[in-house]
Amino acid sequence: MAVGGKRDASHFVGVLGWPLEVTLSPLMHNVGFRRLGLDWIYLRWPVAPDDLDHAVRGLRALGADGANVTMPHKESIVEHLDSLDEDAGAIGAVNTVRRSGKELIGHNTDVVGFSEFLVEDAGFQPDGTSALVLGAGGAARAVVKALGNLGAGDVTIAARNREAGASVAALADDATRSARAIGWEDASDLIDGVDLVVNATPIGMRGEALLSRGTFRPNQCVIDLIYSPPTTPLIERARASGANGWGGLGMLVRQAAASFAIWTGQQAPLDAMSAAAIRGIGHHH
Ligand code: NAP
Repeated sequence: MAVGGKRDASHFVGVLGWPLEVTLSPLMHNVGFRRLGLDWIYLRWPVAPDDLDHAVRGLRALGADGANVTMPHKESIVEHLDSLDEDAGAIGAVNTVRRSGKELIGHNTDVVGFSEFLVEDAGFQPDGTSALVLGAGGAARAVVKALGNLGAGDVTIAARNREAGASVAALADDATRSARAIGWEDASDLIDGVDLVVNATPIGMRGEALLSRGTFRPNQCVIDLIYSPPTTPLIERARASGANGWGGLGMLVRQAAASFAIWTGQQAPLDAMSAAAIRGIGHHH
């Protein structure tokens, strides 16, 4: 509707995923939009894999401002987009889509989300340090790309699938002193010697132990990307040894904030979005 000759701005974004049972994104973003007084809305779009093509055409036809993309579409959406930014291109996965005119551009804010969490929130300076990353899936790819971007020294990826581990290591090959993949069973022996440990597997979501042979030490940074539950046995063990243990909520908020800024061009209200995420976890858990 035109008011005073000015077109109504109704901006909308949403999250594409399947089955999309639990997602904190609508809550975080809608709270963020309200906090800044923006006329934007964030919707839930459960889209089955076979319908992804139609859904992306729908976004174009309706003029959506963008979208978040979650399991299982992060990789399959790439072929439906017009271009990718550097991080999304390197990883081969997209978690954020932005519309620019008629074009849909893919971004991956998990990379900058992890980087900002690590440096700004956890206070860890990765330059020249050694890191052990557990897992070789989408989250591990984002973490290792981020560590490469930040100039980490040595990055080791422990994965039960050696080929997947090597492919993740390749993401940081040029940017680090060394990036290599090791067998899953060898991870525990390395813990004591690294500055940073990141769990990028789902192990711990149901209270399972991880790296039970290893010993943590003070001043190490241990990050579990799992955010629900807020703490895991890994974090608790790390903290008990004097290490700095962090859950995954900070990264989740940071990746959302980066998407928010990409769509709106405004700095995201981190405090309001964090509070919304914490409240949301309380409801789901
Ligand atoms: P994914 O693509 O499915 O990758 C999971 C990885 O964990 C794979 O390498 C998988 O190995 C490995 N894995 C699973 N179970 C294992 C086991 N029992 N032993 C050894 N390795 C095992 O999932 P993702 O998207 O990377 O997510 C991983 C975790 O990170 C999830 O808990 C997710 O919630 C969390 N996450 C958090 C954030 C955040 O913002 N905080 C963002 C993204 C993801 P195989 O390939 O051999 O199965």
